Amino acid sequence: MPAAASNRSGAVSPGPRTAGDRRPGANPWRLDLRELGRRAGSMQEIDRTVPAPDGWRVELIGVPAGGDVHLRLRLESVMEGVLVTGDLDVPVTGSCARCLEPIEDTLHLDVQELYAYAGSTTEATSEEDEVRRIDGDFLDLAPLARDTVVLNLPLAPVCTEDCRGLCVDCGQRLDDLPADHSHEIVDARWAGLAEKFGTPTASSPGTPGENPTTEEN
Ligand SMILES: [Zn+2]
Ligand SMILES: [Zn+2]
Repeated sequence: MPAAASNRSGAVSPGPRTAGDRRPGANPWRLDLRELGRRAGSMQEIDRTVPAPDGWRVELIGVPAGGDVHLRLRLESVMEGVLVTGDLDVPVTGSCARCLEPIEDTLHLDVQELYAYAGSTTEATSEEDEVRRIDGDFLDLAPLARDTVVLNLPLAPVCTEDCRGLCVDCGQRLDDLPADHSHEIVDARWAGLAEKFGTPTASSPGTPGENPTTEEN
């Protein structure tokens, strides 16, 4: 597992040097919690579409960078932090593990996660990789979304549940071929030849179970 993004330096100094590009609004995955406030019980609904970052993928399938991820979330202020509940619609593209056809789909994923306040008991009694943290007035949704997406990406995606894959003889998609597609004609010719010249396969070595005792002739 790659380490969770934890390269933030904690206190963000609003220095003039980076005032422009460190604007919190610049990262749509970073939620400003000031509106929600810290009073337990207060709530905020979020319904927005944000671009997927790069790198949310496994071998054969992933989220196209910049793809529209739709978030429908409820933020709830609790004693220890902020509870995030809701769901994501995530576009994915890839290729079928059986026939290599392109795949396009949308994942619908539920999330529920507690983010702990700095200084809370939860923060003090848990590791950072067990309970996610609130960073000052901000909550970064991207690591949660990434983990949820990557865990739900299939390692062997298929274009259809019953995709029959590729013909082992000619490499074409079996679903694009007639149902009786086969290469038996070739096999039959070989069978004919084998018959004509005596079947050498009968005495082939390496199949001990099949021809028990033919060596003492
Ligand atoms: Zn397929
Ligand atoms: Zn074929």
